[in-house]
Amino acid sequence: MILYRLRCAKGHEFDSWFKDGKTYERQEKRSLIGCPVCGSAKITRAPMAPRIGKGGKTPAPIEAPAETTAPQPAAPDPQMAALAQALPKEMRETLLKLREQVEKNLEPVGEKFAEEARKIHYGESDKRGIYGQTTDEEAEALAEEGIEFGRLPWIPRGN
Ligand SMILES: [Zn+2]
Repeated sequence: MILYRLRCAKGHEFDSWFKDGKTYERQEKRSLIGCPVCGSAKITRAPMAPRIGKGGKTPAPIEAPAETTAPQPAAPDPQMAALAQALPKEMRETLLKLREQVEKNLEPVGEKFAEEARKIHYGESDKRGIYGQTTDEEAEALAEEGIEFGRLPWIPRGN
C-alpha cells in the first residue's frame, strides 16, 4: 500500500491509500478519485508534506498558544475525524476543551488568520487573540516574520 497526498483542482489536499503507484495512475486517468471536500475528480499528486510536530505515530503535539497571539487550528483535515477516533479518550477530551476555550475567548477570523495575525503584529489592527485556519505555507511565512502563534488539531465534536 502507498499513501499519496493528493490535491484537487480547487487546491484541497487529502491523503489516500493505493495498492501501488500503477493503481493510483489508473484510477486517476479514469477520474475515479474524488476530492472528499468538493467532489472534484481532477486530482494531482502533491508532494508529501511532513506533519507539523515531531511526533512519530502520535498526532501532532499541541503547542501552547504564545503570549499575545493566537492558537491557530490546523486546516480542516478529512482525516482528522479518523484521527480523532483513534485518540485516547482523555486526549480527545483535552483537545475538545481546548477547542471550546479557543472559541470562547478568541475572535474567529476564519481563513483570514494569516492576514489578521500580520496586521496585529505590525500594529495595524488592535492587539487581541484570534483564531482561524491557514495553510502550511502561510504558517511558515508567519513564523519567519517572527509572528507568534500556536497550532492545534481541530478535532470534530461528538464522538
Ligand atoms: Zn476539492
